[in-house]
Amino acid sequence: MVKLLRLFAVAAALAASAAATMATADGPPPEALAAAASGLGQKALNDPAAFDFVASLTTEIGQRLAGTDAHRRAVTWAEARLKAAGFDNVHSEPFTLRAWIRGTESADIVAPVPQHLAITTLGGSVATDAEGIEAEIALFHSYDELLAAAPGSLTGKIAVVTQRMVRAQDGSGYGAANAIRRAGPSEAAKRGAVAYLLRSLGTDSHRLPHTGALNYMDNAPRIPAAALAIPDAEQLERLAALGPVRIKLVLTPTVADNAPSWNVVGEVRGSERPDEIVLIGGHLDSWDLGTGATDDGAGVAIAFGAARLIAALPQRPRRTIRLVLFGAEEMDFSGAAYAGAHQAETAGIVVAGEADFGARNVYAIQLPPGAAPSDFGQLLQRAIAPLGAILDRRAALGGGDDIRDLQKAGVPAISLRQDGMDYFDIHHTADDTLDKIDPRQLNQAVAVWSVFTYLAAASDVDFRSLATPAK
Ligand code: ZN
Ligand code: ZN
Repeated sequence: MVKLLRLFAVAAALAASAAATMATADGPPPEALAAAASGLGQKALNDPAAFDFVASLTTEIGQRLAGTDAHRRAVTWAEARLKAAGFDNVHSEPFTLRAWIRGTESADIVAPVPQHLAITTLGGSVATDAEGIEAEIALFHSYDELLAAAPGSLTGKIAVVTQRMVRAQDGSGYGAANAIRRAGPSEAAKRGAVAYLLRSLGTDSHRLPHTGALNYMDNAPRIPAAALAIPDAEQLERLAALGPVRIKLVLTPTVADNAPSWNVVGEVRGSERPDEIVLIGGHLDSWDLGTGATDDGAGVAIAFGAARLIAALPQRPRRTIRLVLFGAEEMDFSGAAYAGAHQAETAGIVVAGEADFGARNVYAIQLPPGAAPSDFGQLLQRAIAPLGAILDRRAALGGGDDIRDLQKAGVPAISLRQDGMDYFDIHHTADDTLDKIDPRQLNQAVAVWSVFTYLAAASDVDFRSLATPAK
């Protein structure tokens, strides 16, 4: 296998030098790029490095909530890992965030019959009093029903929204339901509610609730908020149909302002145009309930594995590959911190993308606007076909939460679509652990990422000009 790959590399180099005199474009000829990229992809399928990375991270560090000592340990661990893997310019870029630490959390039905409920506090939620809140619930089967409730109609009540989330391969069910968790607490508070519960944004049927961040609005009181496990939300629906239900809720999270975090960076320096950057990454922070295996240990492992394979090539690509392990995605802080610190070089970032959708195979790539029909798009399509992935003709809407601010600053974004059919069964739950990762599927994702990253770094594709073709 190794011999075969060496042959690939030699053939690619020969083809490159032979064609260099004939090529009219500045970059290497497409045949050479295609051969090198497919060699990388095949190598990735049998490379244990990505799984080892996420296995070590989830075992030796475990959960790593942003702004905590656990995340600090993960940063130290990641720097050592990147250095050992031969990355250049390994360092961590500090920023601060408002850290949120889960306290105790419990919910119990007190009437009509005492029963315990499985809940978890939403990230960013304020605490209840130490003795908790006891109140009657107002249950809404859909978020729209809550929004239709009149101001004052929920005064003194605990608002409960039990809308179901739709299962979909591309995760669009999560996007459609996201406002229920993000904005629901403030919408309920505007109508007088004293606390807020939602049916977990998840697609499972287990009694493990799904956490996730909320966003309080400035024009509403901040009320405590938690997610119900899905069977518990359904239990409440049945009970509420029989008559009034009272719940006692105790949540004791705390916050720490100006908590430290870091975006960890490592590079594969470009051989000819080091100031042109292909930026790939994932987020190193995780929620605290599981060990952050699929969210986003898998994503950082995929980006790491792809960049590491390219770093090990005998001939480095012409552009720099920059691996960024973002430090506070779950708290919505790291992407803005990164974009803010790198404003001066956004024009040099050729393209950016984040792996943050689990550990399963990539079935499609979405490129920046205008790029799918280009020569680059056609080359990429041929290179990923043997890996079981297609080029989606639709342009990428976003490159991941940590890429959003770069994209706003003009950086073209890509989206490698992973199979997310069961991603939301365990997303943000205590069940997000290493055993859920299939190394073969993880490696397929590494393979597709390595092919894309290599082609973007070794070619002279300019996504910005493809987005605005000359007339
Ligand atoms: Zn994530
Ligand atoms: Zn997440």
